[in-house]
Amino acid sequence: MRVVAVLLALAGIGHAEVAKKDREAATKSSKHPAPPAPGTRPVPLVNLFNEHTHEWLAVDPAALAANTDHFLRDHYTNKAIAMDPRLVPIVVAAAQHFKIDTVTIVSAFRHPKFNLILRKKGHQVARDSEHTHGNAIDFFLATIPTPQLDAWARAQKKGGVGIYLQSGFVHMDTGPLRHWSGD
Ligand SMILES: [Zn+2]
Repeated sequence: MRVVAVLLALAGIGHAEVAKKDREAATKSSKHPAPPAPGTRPVPLVNLFNEHTHEWLAVDPAALAANTDHFLRDHYTNKAIAMDPRLVPIVVAAAQHFKIDTVTIVSAFRHPKFNLILRKKGHQVARDSEHTHGNAIDFFLATIPTPQLDAWARAQKKGGVGIYLQSGFVHMDTGPLRHWSGD
């Protein structure tokens, strides 16, 4: 049992290191946007709320430079990973589209160890989930019906989209384009 957990952890770390380098390169190459001209109205901040840690993080949609990896960490192991830098801009864009100031994050990085525990408990979790690679985010916007958010998410064509109607959230990842429904 312990050997399995250690191997999973090692596999996770190895992958994380490779992905991190790619992502750091991607972050460095993106130019910081120019500040708004004097007299122009600033873009309203979007608040991210982490349902598990109850932490809040205000992000500026005009300058998404803040490192959100720690905020989006696995709450079970308290470990972070280099998240795909495309994810936070996607959920911020959703908030802007629906004119909502808060995005509630249900799940982002999921350590392989925690993912395995969820699977053993019978949760709707894939074995090699995009969450374990830092490529997925589950979220909802409090006053927006889940099917509406799902329709918006699919229209973005950024990767996989899953709608969880009973649970009331949408999964988005940066993997291949696909769509599914869960509970
Ligand atoms: Zn998910």
